[in-house]
Amino acid sequence: SVRVRIAPSPTGKLHIGTARTAVFNWLFARHNGGQFVLRIEDTDLERSRSEFTDNILDGLKWLGLNWDEGPIFQTQRTELYRQKIQELLDKGLAYRAYDTPAELDAMRESQKARNEAPRYDNRHRDLTPEQEAAFIAEGRQPVIRFKIDDDREISWTDLVRGMVTWKGRDLGGDMVIARASAAGEIGAPLYNFVVVVDDIDMGISHVIRGEDHIGNTPKQILLYEALGATVPEFGHTPLILNQAGAKLSKRDGVTSISDFRDMGYTPEAIANYMTLLGWSPPEGMSEIFTLEEAAKQFSFDRVNKAGAKFDWDKLNWINSQYLHHKPLGELTDLLIPLWQAAGYEFDPTGDRPWLEQVAALVGPSLVKLNDAVEMTRYLFVPDVGFTDAATQQLQQPSVGTALQGILTALDTTAVTPDTVQDVIQQGVQAAGVKKGVVMKSLRAALTGDLQGPDLVQSWLLLHQRQIDKARLNQALA
Ligand code: GLU
Repeated sequence: SVRVRIAPSPTGKLHIGTARTAVFNWLFARHNGGQFVLRIEDTDLERSRSEFTDNILDGLKWLGLNWDEGPIFQTQRTELYRQKIQELLDKGLAYRAYDTPAELDAMRESQKARNEAPRYDNRHRDLTPEQEAAFIAEGRQPVIRFKIDDDREISWTDLVRGMVTWKGRDLGGDMVIARASAAGEIGAPLYNFVVVVDDIDMGISHVIRGEDHIGNTPKQILLYEALGATVPEFGHTPLILNQAGAKLSKRDGVTSISDFRDMGYTPEAIANYMTLLGWSPPEGMSEIFTLEEAAKQFSFDRVNKAGAKFDWDKLNWINSQYLHHKPLGELTDLLIPLWQAAGYEFDPTGDRPWLEQVAALVGPSLVKLNDAVEMTRYLFVPDVGFTDAATQQLQQPSVGTALQGILTALDTTAVTPDTVQDVIQQGVQAAGVKKGVVMKSLRAALTGDLQGPDLVQSWLLLHQRQIDKARLNQALA
């Protein structure tokens, strides 16, 4: 049965690359009726922080990537790792190496001088008990190395890349699996080792992760063999690239899921777009889909080998599709906290019908949720201020007369959808100008700008909050 996992390191916020890998794992698990497990790889004590763990869990939940088991924390499993290292030592598949940092540097220098790739030359693989005793007497702190046979060929059929083959001699010599410690003890176990121990222990059937891990896979396969476990399937997903074709990084600005959320992207749009970054939906399937819909169709046959370029225009288009089709109640729920954060004053309960009308007014032109904050400012704040263009319009001849005519009409007529055209007509008559001039002036006076959402609708909304007359008076002052 299918059991996959996402294994983020809490050394930063949930990165879009990790989230996309999580999406592929989730889709694969759901497609196959399997399980999706969450493991937090927090063994790097210096860089791991609990607020990053929180950010990662929140981000996965926000995207709808519910997990079936976990989170499992590696820092709580040290005992298991130590046992497994001891097992490899006992089987003679691993050994203690006593090289000092200076000796390792000198070894690398001489390899460089000979134009050779840097590697450990396995010099402590077969120390005699006397040699070991001498090193210990000197107070050297050994690391533990796992033996890698130079002549081995390691192959696997990658779910994305097909047949991949590595040679043992290209893996850098016997690999360190535990950091230096007092002789006779076992130091902190390292990444490639703990991942394998965990994936075996957690019964992971398919290891699906970013292509940046592909060089770890041959080493890990050797560890599976050494630990007597079945080797799982591997799939390495293409990287997300920036416009220049390099791996998307912090330097490209926004890279974490919470940043996208804070900018006003919806989780549905982000999940949808991330799926398209690397996966092509089958012929006939819309590019707008839920994770559940994608899960029905998902297979690795349609995952591209090449890196996927991050395309803001495409993401914006997808986000706008979701926003334009959101039920009004939901859209309003999403906008209320943004309006509150902007300091706009309203009563979320008492003003609810009015707020829904505001949401209905701007909803169809939103690309990002946050666009609504500036777009609706004139509806919320008492004193909107006039742009230069609006001021200029208000200074045109006859504009004062037209607005005065409207104010006079408002003394006897309340603006409603039924009366609003009459009221406008009274301004036209008072000033003897074209209707277009009156509309433009009204917009300038009521919204402080010459462009924005539908004018009549805006006026009705302002009227409901009784701001419209004050605005007209302000414009005439
Ligand atoms: N902790 C690793 C990372 O954050 C993932 C390891 C794996 O998937 O094997 O990239």
